[in-house]
Parts: sequence; structure tokens; C-alpha cells
Amino acid sequence: MDFNVLVLGSGAATPTFSRHCSAQIITICGSRILVDCGESTQNQLRQYHQKFQAIKTIFISHLHGDHFFGLPGLLSTMHLCGRTEPLTVYAPVGAKAAIELLFEVSATKVNYELNFVEIDVDQPTVIHQDKGFQVTAFPLHHSVTTYGFLFREDPPLLNLRPKMRDQYEMTNDDCIRVKNGEDLVLADGTVIPNDQLTLPCRLPRSYAYCCDTSFDESLIPILSGVDLLCLESTFDNAFSTLAEERCHLTAEKAATLAAKAGVRQLLLTHFSARYREIEPLMGEALAVFPDTLCAADGTRYDIPYKLK
Ligand SMILES: [Zn+2]
Ligand SMILES: [Zn+2]
Repeated sequence: MDFNVLVLGSGAATPTFSRHCSAQIITICGSRILVDCGESTQNQLRQYHQKFQAIKTIFISHLHGDHFFGLPGLLSTMHLCGRTEPLTVYAPVGAKAAIELLFEVSATKVNYELNFVEIDVDQPTVIHQDKGFQVTAFPLHHSVTTYGFLFREDPPLLNLRPKMRDQYEMTNDDCIRVKNGEDLVLADGTVIPNDQLTLPCRLPRSYAYCCDTSFDESLIPILSGVDLLCLESTFDNAFSTLAEERCHLTAEKAATLAAKAGVRQLLLTHFSARYREIEPLMGEALAVFPDTLCAADGTRYDIPYKLK
């Protein structure tokens, strides 16, 4: 099953010809999810042949314009294009009132069910459960209330190795527990580790999106072992003071966070419009974390399977 990230916008603050404001389409377990919706996201969706109506869920990290100002236009266009399917928007507190006010003063109505779920959590919390995956929101450290999102596939059911059931005289309940990843405890208290009983299988994959944030080591536990970590990387080291003042990351700090969290791959995004070329940022990150990519608008990043 595909699990990938299509970057629609990899720029910070102001759009440029080559980098639009933050937005991504996540494809996971057959679902299409929009994460952030900066200005011109609807044009980017068209540019990269993404069907508006296939999006059932939107997650907004925070209400800075470069992550949010594209939302009212997109919601309106969905209506004008005849949407009838419900849409759910997860966003920080304030988003619903802002959209309602805009709709009121512009006499905008939508003919589909628009559900706002306002996020208000102070620790990692599962906010969305879907077919085959779940989404956890967690607070980031930024100049306004901001959340990161962790998309994680549900663990697949394991297959028993041949003859194990008979060898250990396993009951049906034993089999269910072992297939769900538990060890087997025999009547005499002996523990048979799960990997002795089950065949190797693919591990559930995960993707984390953190944009925008300053350096915060308290993120390490939630990001630990993530397959693909997308981190903002607004500045290079020459602007490290500015990065701290504005609650953003440098590429090197992003890479440090990725290394400390032991993630599989790092995807940098949210580059300041001052950079025409991002090789210097890439270089600073690679020196700390070798498996680093720099996001480009219109590029899709796959999250491949790995075996247990
Ligand atoms: Zn931003
Ligand atoms: Zn921001």
C-alpha cells in the first residue's frame, strides 16, 4: 500500500516562483490528507493533478498565514466544484471562528458538511483514527500555538511460524495475542518471545511533520525511530540568532534533532525566500545527519516498507 508525501509548498513565509507556502498531500492506507494550506495551495493541487474532492481530511499545524491562508479559498472552491462529501479540518483553536467570519462577510456558503475539530492538547494525543492508520498531534515550540503531526500505520497482524501452534499447544486466544505481537507465556511461566513464534513481517511505517518549531529536545521521544521526519529548516547557520528569535530551526539544528531521535530519513522544508539555492543548508544538515533530503515543490517522497 502506498505511503508517500507530495510536497506542494516548501517555502517559508512568502511564496516565490519556485517555492510555494507550506502544504503537502499525504497518501496513507488509500486516504488522501492535506497537511497545511498556505496561499495558492489550490493552484498547486491542480498543478500536480490532485483531485480536490479526494481529500477527506485536512490538518493545519498553526494559523500563521503561510500555513493557513489558502484554506478559505480551497473550501470555497471545493463547494464551487460541486463537492457533496463531508470534509473534516483539524486545526488549532481560532481557525473555525476565522473561517466563519470570512464566510459571513463574503456571503460564502458551502453545500457540503464541513466539520472543524479544534486541537487543544498539551502532550502527544491521538486525534484521528482512520482505516489502517492513526494521527497523533503534539505541541511544537513556536511563536503561536503550533502542532506537529505523526502519521502511523496500524501494526499488521503477524503470521505464525509453521508448527508453532501444535508445538506449544496454543489456544485460539493464545494465537490471537501472539498474532497481535505479544509473547507467549506457558503454564509453567516460561516466556516464548514473539519473534520465535511468528514470521518476519513488514513493520508499520510512520511520518512526522513538524513545521514550524524551534529546537526542542522534548520532541525526541515522539519523533524517535520515525521513518520519515519532515522538519522545518528556515535558515542556515549564518542566521542562527534570527532563527532562535523567530522560533525557527536552522538546517543544522533540524539535523541534530533528527540524529538525536534516530529517525530513518530527514526531509527539510520551509526554506526562507532569501535562499535561491539551498545547497548550503543541505550541506550543514548532511554534516550532522547523512540521510537528509531537501523538499522541492511537486516532488513525491516515498516511505518504503521495512521488515521486522
Ligand atoms: Zn511557516
Ligand atoms: Zn509559523
